[in-house]
Amino acid sequence: MMEKKYKFWFATGSQDLYGEECLAKVAKHSGIIVENLNESGVLPFELVRKPTLIDNESIRRLFHEANADETCAGVITWMHTFSPAKSWILGLQEYRKPLLHLHTQFNQEIPYDTIDMDFMNENQSAHGDREYGHMVTRMGIERKIIAGHWSDITVQKRIADWMRTAIGIMESSHIRVVRFADNMRNVAVTEGDKVEAQIKFGWEVDAYPVNEVAEYVKEVPTGDIEALVEEYYSKYDILLEGRDEKEFRKHVTVQAGIELGFEKFLVEKNYHAIVTHFGDLGSLQQLPGLAIQRLMEKGYGFGAEGDWKTAAMVRLMKIMTAGMKEAKGTSFMEDYTYNLVPGKEGILQAHMLEVCPTISDGPIGIKVCPLSMGEREDPARLVFTSKTGPAIATSLIDLGNRFRLIINDVVCKKVEKPMPKLPVATAFWTPQPNLTVGAESWILAGGAHHTAFTYDLTAEQMGDWAAAMGIEVVYIDKDTTIRSLKNELLWNSIAFR
Ligand code: MN
Repeated sequence: MMEKKYKFWFATGSQDLYGEECLAKVAKHSGIIVENLNESGVLPFELVRKPTLIDNESIRRLFHEANADETCAGVITWMHTFSPAKSWILGLQEYRKPLLHLHTQFNQEIPYDTIDMDFMNENQSAHGDREYGHMVTRMGIERKIIAGHWSDITVQKRIADWMRTAIGIMESSHIRVVRFADNMRNVAVTEGDKVEAQIKFGWEVDAYPVNEVAEYVKEVPTGDIEALVEEYYSKYDILLEGRDEKEFRKHVTVQAGIELGFEKFLVEKNYHAIVTHFGDLGSLQQLPGLAIQRLMEKGYGFGAEGDWKTAAMVRLMKIMTAGMKEAKGTSFMEDYTYNLVPGKEGILQAHMLEVCPTISDGPIGIKVCPLSMGEREDPARLVFTSKTGPAIATSLIDLGNRFRLIINDVVCKKVEKPMPKLPVATAFWTPQPNLTVGAESWILAGGAHHTAFTYDLTAEQMGDWAAAMGIEVVYIDKDTTIRSLKNELLWNSIAFR
């Protein structure tokens, strides 16, 4: 998924006013903190301790080096003592990567019996971090602040979360989306300004005639296809449901060819996300279903009906969660139908076919069924139900003069009964704070029917990413009320004018 082995730099601020002995302790303390954070096993990336920064020149040099080092994904700053903030201006002005201000101190407790002025001067981040923070705010630089003792697991987990946000910021500009079809005719919310998306997010969004990728599908060697079909048959339950075994297998074989052909195209041309449209399939025999599901599982982004924004978002979230232990999954998703029974409210999520198997819970089956739309062979698809628990649904929309990212906290549940006649993978969730306010808020904010969905990132992480991109972000969560949301949208419309 990622070619670079990213690291984060830990930079401690001080000054030479307190003498060599104090600076030696500052360096020692920073070393202990970095060592412990690295050994905690909580951080997904390595921290690298940098020499203590004491003046304009050393600060500027550090930020220059951070910009230039391709493996550096961000700098974590902390003022152990007092560091006059004017000395940070030049460095901060030129710095272009994610910035975390860790507002911590070496000791957890005030040493009541022994504390004297020397100790206070040495351990004064409550003082120094305010001086430094003032300058970052005055300069209008987007950064994350995390306050608390460095040994606290909550603090460590927040640093870990921020690291994944930083990876999203760094990797966003490497995302390349291939569109095998334009936006579905007359559909509004999946549209958007691709030039502005490249300026804001760095996304490259290119179109190819669908028959160019269909040629790749035709050229896949039969042996490769057969081997992949064997893999499908060993990995998934075959749900014939009355279909002829041979005919069923032929339909599955078509999807195996699509998976291999598409993947070859994506690798050769260096694309990380795919856009299709059921109404524009050229010489493809089936709508890519099982094939797209498998490609999403491998880390590719996906958007249906020409939806390149959601395709890029799914890819982004897959990169941000790459290598996560006990990840529960990330997928393209669509709001479909409601359960409005009081006390059991929720939204049934699915798509025609394309739901990522990373979110599945329990066995995965293959079905071959007709599509109500389009005019091709009955496509094979993976069917399953998804995991339970908290998750987020996100929608990136283009409002004409700006992008807005809407983030809704949702709670995934099992539906009460199986749905044996529904031939697609599903999820079922209740939006926060409840279905009524959640759905009303989503629609007020202009959210799409397509979402980029994940169990593995938080609203805070995606909101921080959006802030770093300089776009509007709207949260819908347990604290949302319609009255406050309407005010927020009104104020935002003025702020982003
Ligand atoms: Mn759709």
